[in-house]
Amino acid sequence: MEFEELNIIKPILKVLREKGYVGPTPIQEKTIPLLLDHKDVIGIAQTGTGKTAAFAIPVLQKLHERSLKTTTPRALILAPTRELAAQISESFKIYGKFLSFKHLAIYGGVKTVPQIRALERGVDILIATPGRLIDLMNQGKIDFRKIEFLVFDEADRMLDMGFMKDVKKIASALPVEKQSLFFSATMSNQIADLTRDFLKNP
Ligand code: AMP
Repeated sequence: MEFEELNIIKPILKVLREKGYVGPTPIQEKTIPLLLDHKDVIGIAQTGTGKTAAFAIPVLQKLHERSLKTTTPRALILAPTRELAAQISESFKIYGKFLSFKHLAIYGGVKTVPQIRALERGVDILIATPGRLIDLMNQGKIDFRKIEFLVFDEADRMLDMGFMKDVKKIASALPVEKQSLFFSATMSNQIADLTRDFLKNP
């Protein structure tokens, strides 16, 4: 299959061509059409399968297709570790190279003030680890009212690391009307429960 068949927009196709990607990986081929069709999706995929692009491409595309003047985040990506959050942020930078979105990664282990300043300057796509996000939420620094997309990346690892309570608190603070995407390497009973709570007919 070719990326063109997935109806990906030109500014993103251009990046994929530059990166030398020949076509979508299986997880991309399966999830991108569903995500572009406004569906909630559970993707079971390991690292290295192209799962980041599987959600980053449709999120970028949909934000672009419905442009909005806002300075608060429209997409929230939750990830278990700072390394993964930084990596996802880098992927948004790459795939969104010809679009003009601001993305920001926030995670623990570093000062909060620069992250708060960056939020104040305006962010379209926020990538966060649950602990630091809760911290900034409690300080009243996060405005979730314009969130349209919620992505749980490596959900199984987030649960293994004890983030279940934080993840639930964050998810329940978001607008009800949104599209939710759930990526995990494994599908356990706990994961299934979480998807039942937060996804609509995935
Ligand atoms: P991920 O599974 O998201 O960690 O991605 C693993 C690696 O695959 C990254 O280095 C991506 O740049 C690369 N990648 C993602 N999609 C494709 C694709 N369609 N063709 C070739 N490489 C890809």
